[in-house]
Amino acid sequence: DEIVVSELASRLKVNVTEVIKKLMMLGAMVGQNEVIDFDTASLVAEELGAKVEKEVIVTIEERLFEEEEDAEENLEERSPIVVVMGHVDHGKTSILDKIRNADVTSTEAGGITQHIGAYQVNVHGKNITFLDTPGHEAFTAMRSRGALATDIAILVVAADDGIMPQTVESINHAKAANVQIIVAINKMDKPTANPERVKQELTEYGLVPEEWGGDIVCCPVSALTGEGIDQMLDMVLLTADMLELKANPNRLAKGTVIESRLDKGRGPIATLLVQNGTLKSGDVLIAGTAVGRVRVMTNDKGLKVDEAGPCVPVEVAGLAEVPTAGDEFAAVANERLARELVEKRKHEQKEEQFKQYQKVTLDNLFDQMKEGELKELPIIVKADVNGSVEAVRQSLEKLSNDEVRVRVIHGAVGAVNRSDVMLAQASGAIIIGFNVRPDNNAREMSEAGEVEIRLYRIIYDAIDDVKQAMKGLLTPKT
Ligand code: GDP
Repeated sequence: DEIVVSELASRLKVNVTEVIKKLMMLGAMVGQNEVIDFDTASLVAEELGAKVEKEVIVTIEERLFEEEEDAEENLEERSPIVVVMGHVDHGKTSILDKIRNADVTSTEAGGITQHIGAYQVNVHGKNITFLDTPGHEAFTAMRSRGALATDIAILVVAADDGIMPQTVESINHAKAANVQIIVAINKMDKPTANPERVKQELTEYGLVPEEWGGDIVCCPVSALTGEGIDQMLDMVLLTADMLELKANPNRLAKGTVIESRLDKGRGPIATLLVQNGTLKSGDVLIAGTAVGRVRVMTNDKGLKVDEAGPCVPVEVAGLAEVPTAGDEFAAVANERLARELVEKRKHEQKEEQFKQYQKVTLDNLFDQMKEGELKELPIIVKADVNGSVEAVRQSLEKLSNDEVRVRVIHGAVGAVNRSDVMLAQASGAIIIGFNVRPDNNAREMSEAGEVEIRLYRIIYDAIDDVKQAMKGLLTPKT
């Protein structure tokens, strides 16, 4: 039984160079399109935290996370997760504050409202979870990073101002996220309020109010007087009912990091919004490259809690580093594997950063230099005689300037071979050959692996090409 190297990499969900490097460490020099036997593949897989069972590769992620679908009978009703969007100054913050302060449960429990990035309010015995950071940009930034699932977007439009540029952006962001839109026509207390005009304008963006035969609920409100806020919350609950939102509270928690910061006394602090399962004190958590145990959990009322079920936002202390807002988090059963996965993720991050200025060719060299991404141009020199290698090394390295350092990382006599290409691949180098040719292996590998090999007969031509490329004056090769 055999497997192609690139196939192994994709099954392991790692970069192919990662697999090639591990193979090199095991003493096997192979390219990404070559086959290796299963025993070798297993060794590589294990090096990367995966496990091979009956010739099936199980990745570290699959071993760590419970990915089974929840059976219907385990699902319970959950509260809606709501985000507030709209143009600046139309009243997003005022509405969020009004709703929070109207919540009686916070004072009943003896807590004091805390701004942790999200809060839950109780309306007629049902909960609604609000994301406390208004605005579509924060929302989309978070959504693009992870699995932040919001169910409903409240689009705030000031009745005296109508639809403005950020209202339109918000509409498009909400549509892209496939969330249900409810419109809050705010500032109804103002004498200049004109809700009919707002509704008219909404139709121009495909949002047709219910009373005009469409499916968009419009709630006239005033964040100043509080008028209409209760009715709006009722509409949120009604909409949530129709969405039939469910979660399974009886499994390990997973969800999204809403906010994070480093507290001087308590260390890394993260606000987590549980989206499925229940998070408990003492659980092992992984969020991006942060790992740790839940030490202390506090809710949005500042009270210590021991568990947080679906849609409950909590502040958690205990992670070893500060995760990024928008990261997915998960509670896991195996701490050792979680630490291994974090190591793998950190490594991948570094590789990613490295790659930023890695795939360099003489043709894109100048652009990369301009963007400040390229600090060093690594070159591999192969030539027919030793004298040429040394001459070229010196001439090329002399081209270094303030912006970029030219460095010959490897120079030798002989044809360009597979190990040259692998080195180039791993270090982002360009290969320059004098009076030599790549052998067949190297040619195939370089084509597949996007490594640039430039061949010359005259040393001066090579130096001139690099010099011109550094000035952005190289005529592209056709
Ligand atoms: P945001 O930028 O959308 O978060 O808007 P804010 O909540 O900060 O509100 C912007 C301004 O509008 C503030 O001065 C609020 O006091 C005012 N404002 C918000 N809602 C109302 C309202 O319903 N009526 C009136 N008259 N003013 C409001």
